[in-house]
Amino acid sequence: PPPPLYIITPTYRRPEQLAELTRLGYTLKHVVNLYWLVIEDAEEPTPQVTKLLQKINVPFSHLVAQMPAKYRKNKVKPRGVSNRNRGLEWIRANASDGVLYFADDDNTYDVEIFDEMRYTKKVSMWPVGLITKFGVSSPIVKNGTVVGFYDGWIGGRKYPVDMASFSVSVRFLLSRPNASMPYKPGYEEDGFLKSLSPLKLTEIELLASNCTEILVWHTQSKKNPNAMSLDMGKYNNTNLV
Ligand code: UDP
Ligand code: MN
Repeated sequence: PPPPLYIITPTYRRPEQLAELTRLGYTLKHVVNLYWLVIEDAEEPTPQVTKLLQKINVPFSHLVAQMPAKYRKNKVKPRGVSNRNRGLEWIRANASDGVLYFADDDNTYDVEIFDEMRYTKKVSMWPVGLITKFGVSSPIVKNGTVVGFYDGWIGGRKYPVDMASFSVSVRFLLSRPNASMPYKPGYEEDGFLKSLSPLKLTEIELLASNCTEILVWHTQSKKNPNAMSLDMGKYNNTNLV
């Protein structure tokens, strides 16, 4: 069998949650030897989410990792950080080879990217579409290596990339026992990738045909302010359970 893929998906309760996880789950179902770590930013797992994961039937663990209270009151929050660090902790405890990837619940993934990232030796990268006013974020490639980054917001980052734009080999993560994601809005990717150092730009493996194709999109669902999710209350005068 090919090397295992560990997909870390942070998620949280809101009206769109079950819809997002349905779309992502049935995408992941097309990929072999994949283990889905669904990690809720919540005190307790949402039963409707567990039920959905069982129904989709991709091998999974349903974990929780709530955002620390001190960040919850901030206007700009470190979204999904506690969840992703919980995923890294799970991998350190349970995995020995293969590749990990942070797949937010609202993005759109071409299944091709999963079979490309599977062979990552250290860190792989590729472009992400529909992000910032630039419309795309991508490593800039010359003669097969990264020479810079194209991104709508550089922000003094060494790695101005999106969460959806890179994968990391499990062995490489395990060789960096202190690697983790910082609770620093805007700098989560940069902080995590820096925590994997030493890593040379020339060692970054470029996927999606040398970063000439978009296989991942940073889609965002429009919020319906009137909607409630099945776990949030009763739908009166309907047959919904
Ligand atoms: N998320 C979370 N807790 C929150 C907000 C977001 O766990 O309070 C998750 C969310 O489900 C998603 C990821 O963190 O998988 C990134 O959040 P979002 O998509 O809202 O961020 P954006 O794409 O706008 O940067
Ligand atoms: Mn998002």
